[in-house]
Amino acid sequence: MCMVGDAPEFSTEDIEMDLKEYVCLDCENKFKGLGKKVVCPACKSRNIDIVKAET
Ligand SMILES: [Zn+2]
Repeated sequence: MCMVGDAPEFSTEDIEMDLKEYVCLDCENKFKGLGKKVVCPACKSRNIDIVKAET
């Protein structure tokens, strides 16, 4: 028997990798979005930009 330790079938890393921080260029609201169609939750604007994760 080969013990490989904990190796979950479900990969939550994929979800976390897609979760990016955005900033709205219209109202400067910062939020975290998922996917390609991300809109500002505050003003529903699509004029957003991706913010790099804080260190
Ligand atoms: Zn906004």
